[in-house]
Amino acid sequence: KLVACVIGSGIGGLASALRLAARGYSVTVLEKSGEPGGKVAQYNEAGYRFDMGPSLFTLPYLVDELFGLFGRRRADYLKVITLPMTGNYFFSDGLNLKAWSNKEQFLNEVEKTGVNRGKMERYLAKQSFLYEHAADVFLFKSIHKLSTYTSAAGRKGMKALHRMDAFTSMHQRNVKSFGDSRLVQLFDRYATYNGSDPYRAPATLNMIAHLEHNTGAYFPEDGLFGIITAIKRLADEVGVRFYFNTEVTGLVTKGCRVTGVKTRDSVYPADLVVNNTDITLFYRDIMPNARMYRKLMKRERSSSALIFYWGVRTTSALDVHNILFSADYKAEFEGLFKTKELADDLTVYIFISKKAVAADAPDGCENWFVMVNAPENVGQDWEEEVLKARRIVLQKIKSALDFSIEPLIESERVITPQDIECRTGSVNGALYGHSSNSRLSAFKRHPNFSRQYKNLFFTGGSVHPGGGIPLCLASARIVDGLIGAGK
Ligand code: FAD
Repeated sequence: KLVACVIGSGIGGLASALRLAARGYSVTVLEKSGEPGGKVAQYNEAGYRFDMGPSLFTLPYLVDELFGLFGRRRADYLKVITLPMTGNYFFSDGLNLKAWSNKEQFLNEVEKTGVNRGKMERYLAKQSFLYEHAADVFLFKSIHKLSTYTSAAGRKGMKALHRMDAFTSMHQRNVKSFGDSRLVQLFDRYATYNGSDPYRAPATLNMIAHLEHNTGAYFPEDGLFGIITAIKRLADEVGVRFYFNTEVTGLVTKGCRVTGVKTRDSVYPADLVVNNTDITLFYRDIMPNARMYRKLMKRERSSSALIFYWGVRTTSALDVHNILFSADYKAEFEGLFKTKELADDLTVYIFISKKAVAADAPDGCENWFVMVNAPENVGQDWEEEVLKARRIVLQKIKSALDFSIEPLIESERVITPQDIECRTGSVNGALYGHSSNSRLSAFKRHPNFSRQYKNLFFTGGSVHPGGGIPLCLASARIVDGLIGAGK
């Protein structure tokens, strides 16, 4: 049997390990930390369970596919529910708009803003068109291979290129589409789904809204970490071998091939290697290449996050995903990408998995994951920033929801971009690798293959097509396609 080594057990690494096992490789996964999942993590404390990283889950069929590779059903490992509401939005002028998954119900809500439902229907239909034409070529194939553009998917994508809205920003397009500042803010927010800035990111990215509004928002019955538990169980069953607390320190190469993976005390021979670690750090720590490292460091990274995990003694009227918007969204993004400091008013995201998973908090209590977007870690005083964020968040909850949460908090943990950087090995704590703030970002992202070594591939959020669970799963699918095609 040929031997494959996967470096890192983030979601992209796990998906690649499974795909390689399905191809008949004997697969070894080497993971620096003590458990699988990387940024998809959880912790338990005093009867509360918190998903620490991702909270939003779309395109579950990409997870289903992994089970299908072995003739199994995802439902036998992981139950997934469809959320009735994709987001519960609170605007600074007092409007509460519930984004129901049911289109008719959502359109009724939209009418509260005075915007005609036809406008929204046309907008969502356009995003669906963009996704249908762009996804196959730009998300599920290597955009760094000429053959992609001559394939059927490539030709379909190219035909619709002039409609891709690449020359205007997400924000400009949303202003033109709705006029109403609240709907503009709601749809601008989708830029944050890959850590970008709606005032600069191309309007092509408005298609992210299509995923939640047209295809649905989902939730695993055991929380987001349930995805990792299920995939890991499958990997164990099909014979993937895991080595935890095992940091890869280098590669062994011969000519244009990698022949092994080095750790501090061993060498793991390999016929093929898939790297799932942050690509910038890969060129610093695993395959040192000062030129590549500098080049990747120069590129703008995505935003990070500052998160409070609060166990609270209350049963609120909130939903799973709740967003309390700031009054000045532009100032927030300037803070995130230009001045690299928190703005004076912040949009607050409150995720309560207890609303979907009863066991996630004791009776009469809820697990609040309270997050604000934060700039990457460039050495800010995070103790100060945490105090500032806490003050703003508590005030925002009071003004938007009309109650004080502070006296109800019985357990608290906070993580900053610096903590995210230390725990997950992502440069400066960026959540989604490089940002998508320019038209060329997609093309500048690192390819899924090495130009130097024929049997070295890359998966995960810091390479094409980018960060977020669905795109990491897409990157594993692309790597699989490249291996299958012998490239
Ligand atoms: P990573 O998760 O980056 O894992 C890489 C793995 O490699 C780690 O386990 C690390 O320990 C290991 N490693 C590093 N160096 C070495 C080495 N030298 N040797 C061995 N192993 C090594 N996405 C969504 O889809 N929805 C969301 O709602 C969402 N919210 C997020 C919120 C937060 C707070 C965070 C942090 C992320 C969020 N994301 C979200 C993004 C998503 O979590 C990531 O894009 C995705 O999980 C990244 O997966 P990955 O495959 O790139 O691997």
